[in-house]
Amino acid sequence: MTHSITIGPDRTGRTVAIVDGVIAATPDPAAPVIACPDGTIGPGAVCAHTHLYSGLAPYGMPAGEPAPQSFIEILEKVWWRLDRALDTETLRASARDYIAKALLAGTTSLVDHHESPRFIKGSLQVLADAAGELGVRALLAFGATERNFGRDEAEAGLAECANVEETPLVRRLVGLHASFTVSDETLREAGDLCRQLGTVLHVHVAEAADDVNDAKARGYAGPLERLIAFDALPAGSILAHGVHLSAEAVREADGRGLWFVQNPRSNEGNRVGYAANLRFSQRVALGTDGWAADMAVEDAALHRLAAAHGDNGADGRLAAGERLIAERFGLAAVGLSPGAAGDLVVRESGKVTTVVVGGRLVVESGRLVAADAGAIEAEARAAAARLWQRMAALPR
Ligand SMILES: [Zn+2]
Repeated sequence: MTHSITIGPDRTGRTVAIVDGVIAATPDPAAPVIACPDGTIGPGAVCAHTHLYSGLAPYGMPAGEPAPQSFIEILEKVWWRLDRALDTETLRASARDYIAKALLAGTTSLVDHHESPRFIKGSLQVLADAAGELGVRALLAFGATERNFGRDEAEAGLAECANVEETPLVRRLVGLHASFTVSDETLREAGDLCRQLGTVLHVHVAEAADDVNDAKARGYAGPLERLIAFDALPAGSILAHGVHLSAEAVREADGRGLWFVQNPRSNEGNRVGYAANLRFSQRVALGTDGWAADMAVEDAALHRLAAAHGDNGADGRLAAGERLIAERFGLAAVGLSPGAAGDLVVRESGKVTTVVVGGRLVVESGRLVAADAGAIEAEARAAAARLWQRMAALPR
């Protein structure tokens, strides 16, 4: 379903018309009008890499014992246990709470990378349903991997990517967890599936040195070169992190029209380093890697870390995210110009009051339109308690 709405004038006198989900030069005279004389209209924010499945983490996730000492231990003791414990109910509660908070913070697009190895088939529909209910724009992929159950697991993950039903606000991507947890056969199949579906790959690349070392042990210069060798990266593919890539590899990716997504808070938290070489690409968006999708907070963290690392190339990440979304949705423009996504945010004294996604009003007077955010959070807290029990019950 597509929507038309007219927002404004705002305090600067600006009015933005959205017709059939897209910014238009001329309003639809039949469309509802929301004036915002005390507010300022701006574009919606894009979170270009995240994990809806980690939305319950703020509600008491066990830290792993003894405390993880390395990036791989963080994965093994925390995230690779959490993802195996997910079922339909916990995933739904996680996704709804994460999306609710994203919209209330003015984030209108989420590029999700999903993993739930013991609940693969149907998992992306849970995410698509939550996105459709609350009204966020989403790119969805299952991060196929072989790390738990081998090749069958990877094939099921790739098949799940193809199961996504696209809507005006949902696009499917093909996902791989990372080069270091998949075989050559899976890489080849992922590339083939991208071409078959007419979409691109979303994959973690060189988040930590482990991914680079694995690719070198297999005879490649690094994970980027291994992915390229199997034709798994069509132009427009999305590479999360790139912390441990050389300047030369980043330039190579840029030349191939690949996107990077920098996730500064996650990289700092996991102590994997700062992605300094991303300044050699023109196509770097900002993600949160599962942290709450308030992009102003993430952008502030980026600029704090960029200053600390002498990186003067960290501007424009949020605008790049809008370009990434426009590319995947086949939109002609970005920002609030005609032909761009009909996604906008009105702020009053810095607070988000109104959010529109694809022409649909999803936040009004600072509250979700489709559901009660407090009830969603209460459900998330209850689901979190069940998820920690399920995690504890998993074999070590
Ligand atoms: Zn990630």
